Amino acid sequence: MSGATDSLAHAVKEQEEGLLNCVHCGFCLPACPTYRRLGDEADSPRGRLHLMRAVVEGRLDPGSEAFQTHIGRCLGCRACEPVCPSGVEYGNLLELARHVGGEARKPSLLTRLLLRVFGTEWLARPAMFAGRAVRATGIPVLVTRLLAGSVPPRGPRLGLAMLAASGPMRGLRAAPAGSGSPRPAARLRATVGLLTGCVQAGLFSRVNEATVRVLEANGYQVVPVDAQGCCGALHAHAGDLEAARTMARRNVEAFEGAGVDYLAMNASGCGAAMAEYGSLLSHDPIMRDRAAAIAGRVRDVSELLAACGPVRGSAVRMKATWDAPCHLVHAQRVSGPPQAVLDAVPELEVLPLAGATECCGGAGIYGLTHPHLGGWIGGDKVGSVLESGADILVTGNPGCMMQIGAGLRLAGSEVPVLHLVELLDESYRRAGFYAGRPDHGNGRRP
Ligand code: SF4
Ligand code: SF4
Repeated sequence: MSGATDSLAHAVKEQEEGLLNCVHCGFCLPACPTYRRLGDEADSPRGRLHLMRAVVEGRLDPGSEAFQTHIGRCLGCRACEPVCPSGVEYGNLLELARHVGGEARKPSLLTRLLLRVFGTEWLARPAMFAGRAVRATGIPVLVTRLLAGSVPPRGPRLGLAMLAASGPMRGLRAAPAGSGSPRPAARLRATVGLLTGCVQAGLFSRVNEATVRVLEANGYQVVPVDAQGCCGALHAHAGDLEAARTMARRNVEAFEGAGVDYLAMNASGCGAAMAEYGSLLSHDPIMRDRAAAIAGRVRDVSELLAACGPVRGSAVRMKATWDAPCHLVHAQRVSGPPQAVLDAVPELEVLPLAGATECCGGAGIYGLTHPHLGGWIGGDKVGSVLESGADILVTGNPGCMMQIGAGLRLAGSEVPVLHLVELLDESYRRAGFYAGRPDHGNGRRP
């Protein structure tokens, strides 16, 4: 038995010892997006647990088509966890299963390429620069318009549509910046270090900038954490646990050094990964306690804002609908705080979204590596957004913004996709909170 299979065997054994035992009840099946669409037991959480157990017991080769296909098709959305009466830690087992599967058979070239780029700073930076340069030409928006209504794209065309969706969306610029006085400094509540992220920093720097402004407007001091790096979420989900652990160690040291009260997250996939650093590094005697301490200070930006009110801005008279990112609502179990943030925007009408807690099909790199199934799931999400009657779709993760934004544009819709903090930031800009600030007080959105 390989070391990786040993790890999986160890995890399943812990479950067998009565802590987190699957009782085959099937409550998780209706919650699973892949089972709901494919109707195959092997594409359900329970079916995948059977496959894992078969590998651990030596009845199934982890390189087999069955194991590779059905474990590979899992989104890692973790919608199966909150509904499980036995508390099966499915996300943890999936990462171990992918680790075992990856040792038996190499992941696809695209998967390896994406992980290599995101896991190597000197590759990620130029890749993000190239993405921004291509985006600035306007070609992705043009190609996406030409593709609208055609068969679901894949490969480079899908990549271009996602790139188009990462750009600032029109729809909120009509109102001028408020001319009122800047908001007086709020009482200092706490210090925070913002995880700037790789995709977030590379393609959504406006979201990071908005995050800093809204946190400061609510009394948080945002401390720069220069030594941080990629959180490792993509690598952990793909089963490359060694790479994920290396990234986790770097971030633990970086945020420890910053000495902040909280780690602020505006990408829920990254937040979920960092909140589990204690478990990821549990077998490292030097790092485990430090990792657990850092993980305990991780907060989604919506949690930080909800904890203090948040301050209300000026009216944004629009209809918005909220899509809950899987790694916020299922993995981190954060559901109330985003609503508190939406409530802080006066005159914003919040409409319900059917299937708001179901995965959008983006799931890290899944939308690119599984364009058919990811596009199918994403298409259903786009349909729900259009049916909701909303003018704006609001969410909390860059991957979801790109997946849903690409889907909307390919459906010929101009509904903008915004991060939650962008909406509150706009409300504050209209209120004049940023008057005089070089980065946002002149009526120009960044
Ligand atoms: S809900 Fe939990 S216990 Fe029931 S089948 Fe699914 S994983 Fe097993
Ligand atoms: S993580 Fe999501 S896709 Fe995977 S088994 Fe659970 S519910 Fe299904």
